[in-house]
Amino acid sequence: SNPILSISDLHISFHVRGGEVQAVRGVSLEVNRGESVAIVGESGSGKSVTAQSILRLIPTPPGEFKQGSITFKGEDLLAKTEKEMESIRGKEIGMIFQDPMTSLNPTLTVGRQITEVLRKHQNMSSTEATNRAVELLNLVGIPNAAERVKQFPHQFSGGMRQRVMIAIALACNPSLLIADEPTTALDVTIQAQIMTLMKELQEKTGTSIILITHDLGIVADMCDRVVVMYAGKVVETGTKQEIFKNPQHPYTRGLLRSLPRLDQKKDEPLVPIIGTPPDMSSPPKGCAFCARCDEAMRICVDNDPQAYVLSETQTAKCWLHDSALKGGESA
Ligand code: SF4
Ligand code: MG
Repeated sequence: SNPILSISDLHISFHVRGGEVQAVRGVSLEVNRGESVAIVGESGSGKSVTAQSILRLIPTPPGEFKQGSITFKGEDLLAKTEKEMESIRGKEIGMIFQDPMTSLNPTLTVGRQITEVLRKHQNMSSTEATNRAVELLNLVGIPNAAERVKQFPHQFSGGMRQRVMIAIALACNPSLLIADEPTTALDVTIQAQIMTLMKELQEKTGTSIILITHDLGIVADMCDRVVVMYAGKVVETGTKQEIFKNPQHPYTRGLLRSLPRLDQKKDEPLVPIIGTPPDMSSPPKGCAFCARCDEAMRICVDNDPQAYVLSETQTAKCWLHDSALKGGESA
Protein backbone atom coordinates (compact mmCIF):
# COMPACT_ATOMS: atom_id res chain seq x y z
CA SER A 1 0.00 0.00 0.00
CA ASN A 2 0.94 3.61 -0.40
CA PRO A 3 -0.01 5.40 2.81
CA ILE A 4 -0.89 9.07 2.67
CA LEU A 5 0.42 9.48 6.23
CA SER A 6 3.04 7.49 7.98
CA ILE A 7 4.21 8.11 11.54
CA SER A 8 7.28 6.24 12.62
CA ASP A 9 8.69 5.81 16.13
CA LEU A 10 7.43 9.20 17.27
CA HIS A 11 8.52 10.42 20.70
CA ILE A 12 7.20 13.67 22.16
CA SER A 13 7.86 15.04 25.62
CA PHE A 14 6.73 18.08 27.53
CA HIS A 15 9.17 19.82 29.82
CA VAL A 16 7.41 20.81 32.99
CA ARG A 17 8.65 22.18 36.27
CA GLY A 18 10.74 19.47 37.84
CA GLY A 19 10.53 16.93 35.05
CA GLU A 20 9.67 15.65 31.63
CA VAL A 21 6.28 14.20 30.74
CA GLN A 22 6.75 11.54 28.07
CA ALA A 23 3.42 11.99 26.31
CA VAL A 24 4.18 9.96 23.18
CA ARG A 25 6.66 7.09 23.44
CA GLY A 26 7.39 5.45 20.12
CA VAL A 27 4.15 5.67 18.15
CA SER A 28 4.07 4.26 14.63
CA LEU A 29 0.95 4.24 12.49
CA GLU A 30 -0.17 4.56 8.89
CA VAL A 31 -3.23 5.97 7.18
CA ASN A 32 -3.98 4.86 3.64
CA ARG A 33 -5.71 6.92 0.99
CA GLY A 34 -9.46 7.09 1.54
CA GLU A 35 -9.18 5.20 4.81
CA SER A 36 -10.67 6.24 8.14
CA VAL A 37 -8.61 5.34 11.17
CA ALA A 38 -9.73 5.79 14.76
CA ILE A 39 -7.23 6.45 17.53
CA VAL A 40 -8.84 5.45 20.81
CA GLY A 41 -7.74 5.51 24.43
CA GLU A 42 -8.43 7.21 27.73
CA SER A 43 -7.51 10.85 28.18
CA GLY A 44 -3.78 11.23 28.67
CA SER A 45 -2.96 8.29 26.39
CA GLY A 46 -1.18 10.59 23.93
CA LYS A 47 -3.77 10.43 21.15
CA SER A 48 -4.40 14.18 20.94
CA VAL A 49 -0.70 14.96 21.16
CA THR A 50 -0.07 12.55 18.29
CA ALA A 51 -2.81 14.21 16.21
CA GLN A 52 -1.60 17.72 16.97
CA SER A 53 1.96 16.75 16.13
CA ILE A 54 0.88 15.91 12.55
CA LEU A 55 -0.14 19.55 12.13
CA ARG A 56 2.85 20.69 14.18
CA LEU A 57 0.53 22.36 16.65
CA ILE A 58 2.64 21.31 19.64
CA PRO A 59 4.28 24.40 21.14
CA THR A 60 8.04 23.83 21.45
CA PRO A 61 8.93 24.53 24.23
CA PRO A 62 7.44 23.19 26.46
CA GLY A 63 6.96 20.37 23.93
CA GLU A 64 9.87 18.60 22.29
CA PHE A 65 9.97 16.24 19.32
CA LYS A 66 12.56 13.79 20.61
CA GLN A 67 12.64 11.19 17.89
CA GLY A 68 10.80 9.79 14.90
CA SER A 69 9.27 11.00 11.66
CA ILE A 70 5.92 12.06 10.24
CA THR A 71 5.66 11.56 6.49
CA PHE A 72 2.71 13.05 4.61
CA LYS A 73 2.45 12.43 0.86
CA GLY A 74 6.08 11.41 0.87
CA GLU A 75 7.33 14.54 2.63
CA ASP A 76 8.73 14.85 6.15
CA LEU A 77 6.47 17.22 8.06
CA LEU A 78 8.95 17.58 10.91
CA ALA A 79 11.45 19.12 8.49
CA LYS A 80 9.03 21.81 7.27
CA THR A 81 9.31 25.46 8.22
CA GLU A 82 6.39 27.12 10.01
CA LYS A 83 5.55 28.95 6.78
CA GLU A 84 5.43 25.70 4.83
CA MET A 85 3.20 24.18 7.52
CA GLU A 86 0.78 27.10 7.18
CA SER A 87 0.14 26.17 3.58
CA ILE A 88 -0.49 22.55 4.57
CA ARG A 89 -2.84 23.24 7.49
CA GLY A 90 -6.39 23.75 6.32
CA LYS A 91 -5.46 23.03 2.71
CA GLU A 92 -3.87 19.58 2.57
CA ILE A 93 -4.86 18.57 6.09
CA GLY A 94 -8.15 19.76 7.57
CA MET A 95 -8.89 19.71 11.28
CA ILE A 96 -11.97 19.59 13.46
CA PHE A 97 -11.71 20.07 17.19
CA GLN A 98 -13.97 19.32 20.10
CA ASP A 99 -15.16 22.83 20.83
CA PRO A 100 -16.03 24.87 17.73
CA MET A 101 -16.56 27.98 19.87
CA THR A 102 -12.85 28.20 20.61
CA SER A 103 -11.82 27.57 17.02
CA LEU A 104 -14.36 29.86 15.35
CA ASN A 105 -13.82 33.60 15.43
CA PRO A 106 -16.82 35.12 17.30
CA THR A 107 -16.37 38.51 15.59
CA LEU A 108 -16.55 37.31 11.98
CA THR A 109 -19.55 35.95 10.11
CA VAL A 110 -19.49 32.26 9.36
CA GLY A 111 -19.37 33.04 5.63
CA ARG A 112 -16.35 35.27 6.09
CA GLN A 113 -14.51 32.54 8.00
CA ILE A 114 -15.05 30.10 5.16
CA THR A 115 -14.18 32.57 2.40
CA GLU A 116 -10.96 33.55 4.19
CA VAL A 117 -9.78 29.95 4.03
CA LEU A 118 -10.75 29.70 0.37
CA ARG A 119 -9.09 32.96 -0.59
CA LYS A 120 -5.92 32.13 1.33
CA HIS A 121 -5.44 28.68 -0.16
CA GLN A 122 -7.36 28.64 -3.42
CA ASN A 123 -6.89 32.00 -5.02
CA MET A 124 -10.64 32.53 -5.50
CA SER A 125 -12.36 35.83 -6.24
CA SER A 126 -14.65 37.07 -3.49
CA THR A 127 -17.80 36.14 -5.44
CA GLU A 128 -16.52 32.65 -6.16
CA ALA A 129 -15.58 32.20 -2.51
CA THR A 130 -18.98 33.39 -1.27
CA ASN A 131 -20.78 31.02 -3.63
CA ARG A 132 -18.58 28.19 -2.49
CA ALA A 133 -19.24 29.05 1.19
CA VAL A 134 -22.99 28.74 0.60
CA GLU A 135 -22.40 25.48 -1.24
CA LEU A 136 -20.34 24.14 1.67
CA LEU A 137 -22.97 25.06 4.27
CA ASN A 138 -25.51 23.25 2.10
CA LEU A 139 -23.22 20.26 1.89
CA VAL A 140 -22.98 19.96 5.68
CA GLY A 141 -26.76 20.19 6.02
CA ILE A 142 -27.27 23.74 7.28
CA PRO A 143 -30.69 25.00 6.11
CA ASN A 144 -31.06 28.46 4.52
CA ALA A 145 -27.36 28.54 3.77
CA ALA A 146 -27.55 31.74 1.72
CA GLU A 147 -28.87 33.57 4.80
CA ARG A 148 -26.83 31.67 7.36
CA VAL A 149 -23.48 32.69 5.81
CA LYS A 150 -24.19 36.22 6.99
CA GLN A 151 -24.61 35.19 10.62
CA PHE A 152 -22.13 34.98 13.50
CA PRO A 153 -21.10 31.80 15.37
CA HIS A 154 -23.23 32.63 18.46
CA GLN A 155 -26.33 32.53 16.25
CA PHE A 156 -25.76 28.82 15.65
CA SER A 157 -26.50 25.91 18.00
CA GLY A 158 -23.63 23.66 19.17
CA GLY A 159 -24.40 21.04 16.56
CA MET A 160 -24.72 23.63 13.78
CA ARG A 161 -21.40 25.21 14.83
CA GLN A 162 -19.75 21.81 14.54
CA ARG A 163 -21.22 21.55 11.02
CA VAL A 164 -19.68 24.94 10.24
CA MET A 165 -16.31 23.65 11.47
CA ILE A 166 -16.65 20.66 9.19
CA ALA A 167 -17.50 22.98 6.28
CA ILE A 168 -14.34 25.01 6.98
CA ALA A 169 -12.25 21.86 7.31
CA LEU A 170 -13.55 20.58 3.96
CA ALA A 171 -13.35 23.94 2.16
CA CYS A 172 -10.12 23.14 0.33
CA ASN A 173 -10.81 19.44 -0.27
CA PRO A 174 -8.07 18.25 2.08
CA SER A 175 -6.71 14.79 1.47
CA LEU A 176 -6.58 14.16 5.23
CA LEU A 177 -9.05 15.25 7.87
CA ILE A 178 -8.14 15.07 11.55
CA ALA A 179 -11.09 15.12 13.95
CA ASP A 180 -10.21 15.28 17.65
CA GLU A 181 -13.23 14.31 19.78
CA PRO A 182 -15.45 16.18 17.30
CA THR A 183 -18.74 15.37 19.02
CA THR A 184 -17.82 15.16 22.70
CA ALA A 185 -19.43 18.50 23.59
CA LEU A 186 -22.70 17.61 21.85
CA ASP A 187 -25.73 15.67 23.05
CA VAL A 188 -26.11 12.08 21.90
CA THR A 189 -28.63 12.64 19.08
CA ILE A 190 -26.58 15.45 17.58
CA GLN A 191 -23.40 13.34 17.98
CA ALA A 192 -24.96 10.63 15.85
CA GLN A 193 -26.02 13.18 13.20
CA ILE A 194 -22.53 14.68 13.01
CA MET A 195 -20.87 11.27 12.73
CA THR A 196 -23.29 10.25 9.98
CA LEU A 197 -22.53 13.48 8.18
CA MET A 198 -18.78 12.92 8.41
CA LYS A 199 -19.14 9.41 7.08
CA GLU A 200 -21.27 10.57 4.15
CA LEU A 201 -18.84 13.35 3.32
CA GLN A 202 -15.95 10.94 3.48
CA GLU A 203 -17.66 8.59 1.05
CA LYS A 204 -18.37 11.52 -1.25
CA THR A 205 -14.94 13.16 -1.15
CA GLY A 206 -12.67 10.15 -0.59
CA THR A 207 -10.65 12.05 2.02
CA SER A 208 -8.73 10.04 4.61
CA ILE A 209 -9.81 10.56 8.21
CA ILE A 210 -8.13 10.26 11.57
CA LEU A 211 -10.76 10.23 14.29
CA ILE A 212 -9.53 10.71 17.84
CA THR A 213 -11.93 9.55 20.50
CA HIS A 214 -12.21 8.00 23.95
CA ASP A 215 -15.51 6.46 22.87
CA LEU A 216 -15.23 3.14 21.05
CA GLY A 217 -18.97 3.31 20.41
CA ILE A 218 -18.76 5.98 17.73
CA VAL A 219 -15.87 4.15 16.08
CA ALA A 220 -18.08 1.21 15.16
CA ASP A 221 -20.06 3.14 12.55
CA MET A 222 -17.38 5.35 11.23
CA CYS A 223 -13.97 3.73 10.88
CA ASP A 224 -12.18 1.05 8.88
CA ARG A 225 -9.31 0.57 11.26
CA VAL A 226 -8.63 1.18 14.94
CA VAL A 227 -5.42 2.12 16.75
CA VAL A 228 -5.63 1.70 20.53
CA MET A 229 -3.25 3.85 22.58
CA TYR A 230 -2.27 3.52 26.21
CA ALA A 231 0.29 5.56 28.15
CA GLY A 232 1.85 7.08 25.03
CA LYS A 233 2.13 3.84 23.05
CA VAL A 234 0.10 1.92 20.51
CA VAL A 235 -1.03 -1.24 22.29
CA GLU A 236 -3.27 -2.76 19.63
CA THR A 237 -4.15 -2.16 15.98
CA GLY A 238 -6.67 -3.96 13.84
CA THR A 239 -9.58 -3.65 11.49
CA LYS A 240 -12.82 -2.59 13.09
CA GLN A 241 -13.97 -6.23 12.94
CA GLU A 242 -10.82 -7.52 14.62
CA ILE A 243 -10.97 -4.95 17.41
CA PHE A 244 -14.66 -5.46 18.18
CA LYS A 245 -14.98 -9.21 17.60
CA ASN A 246 -11.51 -10.44 18.51
CA PRO A 247 -9.64 -7.93 20.70
CA GLN A 248 -6.20 -9.27 21.63
CA HIS A 249 -4.94 -6.79 24.21
CA PRO A 250 -6.31 -6.78 27.79
CA TYR A 251 -6.69 -2.99 27.63
CA THR A 252 -8.80 -3.17 24.47
CA ARG A 253 -10.93 -5.87 26.08
CA GLY A 254 -11.32 -3.63 29.12
CA LEU A 255 -12.42 -0.68 26.96
CA LEU A 256 -15.01 -2.88 25.25
CA ARG A 257 -16.35 -4.24 28.56
CA SER A 258 -16.76 -0.69 29.84
CA LEU A 259 -18.89 0.32 26.85
CA PRO A 260 -22.66 0.30 26.67
CA ARG A 261 -23.78 -1.86 23.75
CA LEU A 262 -27.09 -2.23 21.98
CA ASP A 263 -26.98 -6.01 22.31
CA GLN A 264 -26.21 -5.82 26.03
CA LYS A 265 -27.82 -8.58 28.09
CA LYS A 266 -29.51 -7.47 31.30
CA ASP A 267 -27.30 -9.60 33.52
CA GLU A 268 -24.13 -8.38 31.78
CA PRO A 269 -23.07 -5.25 33.67
CA LEU A 270 -20.67 -2.61 32.35
CA VAL A 271 -17.25 -3.07 33.91
CA PRO A 272 -15.06 0.01 34.18
CA ILE A 273 -11.29 -0.48 34.01
CA ILE A 274 -10.14 -0.12 37.60
CA GLY A 275 -7.24 2.19 38.39
CA THR A 276 -5.60 5.04 36.52
CA PRO A 277 -2.95 5.32 33.81
CA PRO A 278 0.66 5.62 35.00
CA ASP A 279 2.44 8.87 35.75
CA MET A 280 4.04 9.77 32.45
CA SER A 281 6.87 11.67 34.07
CA SER A 282 8.17 8.31 35.28
CA PRO A 283 6.51 5.64 33.15
CA PRO A 284 6.91 2.03 34.28
CA LYS A 285 9.80 -0.01 32.97
CA GLY A 286 7.68 -2.96 31.94
CA CYS A 287 4.21 -3.07 30.41
CA ALA A 288 2.51 0.25 31.23
CA PHE A 289 -0.84 -1.52 31.71
CA CYS A 290 0.57 -3.98 34.25
CA ALA A 291 -0.84 -2.34 37.39
CA ARG A 292 -4.38 -2.52 35.97
CA CYS A 293 -4.16 -5.80 34.05
CA ASP A 294 -5.93 -8.87 35.44
CA GLU A 295 -3.86 -11.12 33.16
CA ALA A 296 -0.46 -9.71 34.19
CA MET A 297 2.44 -12.14 34.49
CA ARG A 298 5.76 -11.81 36.27
CA ILE A 299 7.59 -10.90 33.07
CA CYS A 300 5.23 -7.93 32.51
CA VAL A 301 6.53 -6.00 35.53
CA ASP A 302 10.02 -5.27 34.23
CA ASN A 303 9.84 -6.05 30.51
CA ASP A 304 7.92 -4.02 27.95
CA PRO A 305 6.52 -6.39 25.31
CA GLN A 306 6.98 -5.87 21.57
CA ALA A 307 4.00 -5.54 19.23
CA TYR A 308 3.17 -9.10 18.15
CA VAL A 309 1.86 -9.49 14.61
CA LEU A 310 -1.34 -11.53 14.78
CA SER A 311 -2.73 -11.09 11.26
CA GLU A 312 -1.99 -9.00 8.20
CA THR A 313 -3.89 -6.19 9.91
CA GLN A 314 -3.77 -6.88 13.66
CA THR A 315 -0.99 -6.36 16.19
CA ALA A 316 -1.06 -6.50 19.99
CA LYS A 317 1.69 -5.32 22.30
CA CYS A 318 1.27 -7.89 25.03
CA TRP A 319 3.28 -10.82 26.44
CA LEU A 320 0.21 -13.06 26.16
CA HIS A 321 1.09 -13.44 22.47
CA ASP A 322 4.65 -14.58 23.00
CA SER A 323 4.71 -18.19 21.85
CA ALA A 324 7.51 -19.05 24.28
CA LEU A 325 5.34 -17.90 27.20
CA LYS A 326 1.99 -19.19 25.95
CA GLY A 327 0.16 -21.26 28.53
CA GLY A 328 3.21 -21.02 30.74
CA GLU A 329 4.21 -18.44 33.27
CA SER A 330 1.78 -16.79 35.65
CA ALA A 331 2.20 -14.02 38.20
FE1 SF4 B 1 -1.27 -7.49 30.80
FE2 SF4 B 1 1.24 -8.40 30.66
FE3 SF4 B 1 -0.18 -8.07 28.45
FE4 SF4 B 1 0.70 -5.98 29.81
S1 SF4 B 1 1.95 -7.50 28.75
S2 SF4 B 1 -1.31 -6.22 28.95
S3 SF4 B 1 0.50 -6.69 31.90
S4 SF4 B 1 -0.60 -9.50 30.11
MG1 MG C 1 -7.63 14.89 23.97
